[in-house]
Amino acid sequence: MAFLTLEQVNKFYGELAAVRDVDLSVAKGEFVSLLGPSGCGKTTTLQMIAGLVEPTSGRITLDGRDITHEKPNRRGLGIVFQSYALFPHMTVAQNVAFGLEMRKVQRAERDTRVADMLALVHLAGMADRYPRQLSGGQRQRVAIARALVIEPPVLLLDEPLSNLDAKLREEMQFELRRIQRSVGTTTIMVTHDQAEALSISDRVVVMEAGCMTQVDAPYRLYEKPATPFISSFVGRMNRLEGIWWPNGPIGTVEVAGAMLPSEAADLPAGAAVTASIRPEKLLLHKAGEGRLNGNVASRFFLGGHWLFNVETPAGVIVVSMPNHGEEPAREGERVGIDWAPASLRIEASAGGT
Ligand code: ATP
Repeated sequence: MAFLTLEQVNKFYGELAAVRDVDLSVAKGEFVSLLGPSGCGKTTTLQMIAGLVEPTSGRITLDGRDITHEKPNRRGLGIVFQSYALFPHMTVAQNVAFGLEMRKVQRAERDTRVADMLALVHLAGMADRYPRQLSGGQRQRVAIARALVIEPPVLLLDEPLSNLDAKLREEMQFELRRIQRSVGTTTIMVTHDQAEALSISDRVVVMEAGCMTQVDAPYRLYEKPATPFISSFVGRMNRLEGIWWPNGPIGTVEVAGAMLPSEAADLPAGAAVTASIRPEKLLLHKAGEGRLNGNVASRFFLGGHWLFNVETPAGVIVVSMPNHGEEPAREGERVGIDWAPASLRIEASAGGT
């Protein structure tokens, strides 16, 4: 059941289509991220939902009500921006209570709701502190508590974690998801960080140049990216241009003279194709033991796994190997790369076959 919908929503600034023909349907309790590079229209979309920007055309509904032209304060949505501007002269508890005071909620109920909310965001002991006495992560949790305490139908988050350092950011991703799960508030988050979108969301909306090009569960986005842009923007992807040849139940892609076994495809022999494969679908062997030989040009140790850039006749190929406590290969070493043919995905190259 759709709770929040956008139907054919457009936003033009003069000639520029910041958001174009957007259709989106969000279920109650869902966590949806808007993901895309700078300028693709994520924030404009969020602001139209918030009522801060008026659509040029189209319709937005909330729980069956047309809110397209409703004032932001009538929508009553919770909003957390990147610069989570807490009131500096108010304590944590006063910051969180603010929205309830505005709504003339009685003192006793207010105190209970503020206390419950601070417990939820794990800040129960910090009610009397001032924002300057808090860490970045704690401040961000106050901002989330302040937005949620009014029990908004929808929580809107615009790059809420981008001011935090990497480790804290990861912790807050878990926190945000935990808090959202326990209150069940329908949530829309803008982010340009694909790992963040994948790890937190029920569904991810990818935006490219004002359009929504894929709306999918994170694992589907990763496994079945709808556009070449998404395949390289979400996770890492090796992409090779070649010629496709049928080969019994599988296929073969010829790349710079190297013959690479691939998935089968319904294409004419000799078609120009793009072959793509994720780094973690590749295996590193000793030279001569794989399907393609190459030299390790560089390698990076990332704790849980290694990344290798391997120079091959088909170009530089990125291979990811899990860390099993030993070094799989050194820089300069000659190696063989192997894969299951079905994991080398084929699509006709742009510009025809
Ligand atoms: P970022 O991640 O950089 O914030 P974004 O995906 O959120 O990017 P938007 O802020 O939605 O992108 O902007 C989409 C496009 O609309 C951009 O090309 C931007 O320059 C343009 N734009 C946004 N607001 C206005 C405005 N008030 N007047 C004119 N153009 C605007």
